[in-house]
Amino acid sequence: MDSLITFGIAAAITLFFVVSYLRNLKKRDTRAREAAEKGKLFSDGPRAQHPHIDTNYCIGCATCTTVCPEGDVLAMIAGKAVIVNGHKCIGHSLCADACPVGAITMVMASPSMGADMPFLTPEHETTIPGLFIVGELGGLALIKNAVNQGRDCIDTISLRLGRNPAARATDGVYDVLIVGAGPAGISASLRAIENKLSYITLERDEVGGTVAKYPRQKLVMTSPVEFPMYGKFKKMQLSKENLLAFWDMVLNRADFNVSTGEKVEDIKKGEDSIFTILTVNNGYRARHVILALGRAGEPRKLGVKGEELPKVMYRLIEADHYINKKILVVGGGDSAVEAAMGLAHQAGNQVTLCYRGEHFSRIKERNSKRMEDCMRTGKVKVLLQTNPVEFKASSVILDAKGAQQEIPNDFVWIFAGGIPPNDFLKKVGVGFGQRDVTLEASKEAKQAETSRKQLAQAAAR
Ligand SMILES: Cc1cc2nc3c(=O)[nH]c(=O)nc-3n(C[C@H](O)[C@H](O)[C@H](O)COP(=O)(O)OP(=O)(O)OC[C@H]3O[C@@H](n4cnc5c(N)ncnc54)[C@H](O)[C@@H]3O)c2cc1C
Repeated sequence: MDSLITFGIAAAITLFFVVSYLRNLKKRDTRAREAAEKGKLFSDGPRAQHPHIDTNYCIGCATCTTVCPEGDVLAMIAGKAVIVNGHKCIGHSLCADACPVGAITMVMASPSMGADMPFLTPEHETTIPGLFIVGELGGLALIKNAVNQGRDCIDTISLRLGRNPAARATDGVYDVLIVGAGPAGISASLRAIENKLSYITLERDEVGGTVAKYPRQKLVMTSPVEFPMYGKFKKMQLSKENLLAFWDMVLNRADFNVSTGEKVEDIKKGEDSIFTILTVNNGYRARHVILALGRAGEPRKLGVKGEELPKVMYRLIEADHYINKKILVVGGGDSAVEAAMGLAHQAGNQVTLCYRGEHFSRIKERNSKRMEDCMRTGKVKVLLQTNPVEFKASSVILDAKGAQQEIPNDFVWIFAGGIPPNDFLKKVGVGFGQRDVTLEASKEAKQAETSRKQLAQAAAR
């Protein structure tokens, strides 16, 4: 009898765990299918780098689905990880790092997405030998990718120069000229100092690149990265100001050779394989050129009447400078939504957000939730399928499917994206077009590792 009771209790406990496990599995499956349905709205799939899951190796542990800061990029369907919202992936690659069996590798966008990207070898070289592209301009977003690529590209150049020391005897020619002082350009410059290359960095604006233009006190998410002239930078999140202060500290210590306020207008390669780099007032010569221009380029304009008024702006850094104002924000991406919410939280502002789409496209999960709150509490008035048709001194005219309305207005911010510097690249002669951009980041990493080893061996000799 005793053993029958013990058996009964054991069976009940086992049943309890089995039923809860199956319930959880069902819930997870339902969530995954819902996420997949949402993902279908953006059927063009991943725009840039994204995870590739080898289902032969995936053991269905779901770790990858829990680590992504962007939300439901991955989900478990039928016991395997699948991409359900590829458009949300911005390449943190935490899923690949977390996968216990190495079933995930980060890959680049599909060839069709790569059509308006410059062709690059795994060493970041363009179709013009000696001319390299690193950072976001090459298609990979995120600060850590920019830092890694800037550093590794200099290692490749150092290796080539090391093999050919005679090439370095010419006076007045830099080993490398770096264009752009965002994270990619900063990292390349510091590695050039570390590797004792002669270099100069030209920056049209200010040091810090896109980061310097983030809104004040923006929280920057990053990953541990090997930073030249410093070592492992381990912070996962910090304010924009603290990140800029960190770079400033390292750059001052390293005696950074930068010329700011100098926009590169043209680059030509001579018969002698030396590049001539032209800015408005100066000409430089270098054996190698690294373009670290980012993809932000010039802000895209709408071509709307009155857009030239000084009250119409394309970048918001200090939201707290605006109080008691009637504000229109135009756009449907993260920058527009964040700006609208930032402005709405300042005293007395009345913020309207207008967007031509039926729903916000591609915004981060956390922005989507915060925006829903702002709409519910009336902090931001959202007008979808609506376009501005005229900006006037103290009002704006909006059009929603043919119905026009004029609303009072003090300031307008437009976030319609940037025009990447493709025309500049084409002028310089960099090759574009359909290409197989499915080169795994791991292949790139292996290449960089080989370069690093060769460099270390060369230094030891
Ligand atoms: C609002 C926003 C928030 C973001 N948040 C994060 C985040 O939290 N974490 C993260 O990892 N990433 C984030 N990113 C992405 C990250 O900022 C970029 O991936 C990164 O800055 C790219 O670095 P880069 O060096 O390639 O280019 P950039 O930072 O864009 O720098 C390019 C530099 O080149 C200069 N330049 C351009 N053309 C010329 C020329 N002809 N001559 C001379 N100089 C030139 C520019 O002035 C600029 O300084 C965010 C981006 C945005 C827009």
